[in-house]
Amino acid sequence: MTTAHAAPEHAAAAHLRARVARQFGRSLHIRTLDTGSCAACEQEIRLLAAPHYDLHRLGFFFTPAPRHADLLLVTGPMIRAFGVAARKTYEAIPGPKLVVATGACALGGVYPSDAFTHGDVSEVLPVDVWIPGCPPSPLALLQGLLVAVDRLAGKAGALTFAADDPGPAPGTGENPS
Ligand code: SF4
Repeated sequence: MTTAHAAPEHAAAAHLRARVARQFGRSLHIRTLDTGSCAACEQEIRLLAAPHYDLHRLGFFFTPAPRHADLLLVTGPMIRAFGVAARKTYEAIPGPKLVVATGACALGGVYPSDAFTHGDVSEVLPVDVWIPGCPPSPLALLQGLLVAVDRLAGKAGALTFAADDPGPAPGTGENPS
């Protein structure tokens, strides 16, 4: 019985993983960035990696290193004290890259711009995808990430990863990162 119910989910997961691989050429790595959130958005993001949602099976992974990231997932209203650090984090990510603003705070719907906060992530970073909600549910986050994959594929143009890209010649000592 369990197998009969699980099979469509496995098929859907396989389809989504193939979509990520087809659109992007490999798995996609996410760097989260808290710019002053209440931490509820982070709780929902953490749930994505839990067994119930199992984000990894779809080809998404979290990384603490901006240089290993493809996508910046930003929460919070972008407090002014964090603006420079946010910009440096964004600049450390190799292109093509995306910024996903997550939650009502990041979208400018909670705090006004004042002496302490920009009130909107797009005041500091070029936002590509907006995910509303306070906080957004894991399924809303997942939907936003899938939209992001399509946008990233568009940014990259004709992607030529994997078989089309031979990479550095063996023994050249080039660092692929
Ligand atoms: S959008 Fe809502 S849940 Fe997310 S950081 Fe802002 S107040 Fe908290």
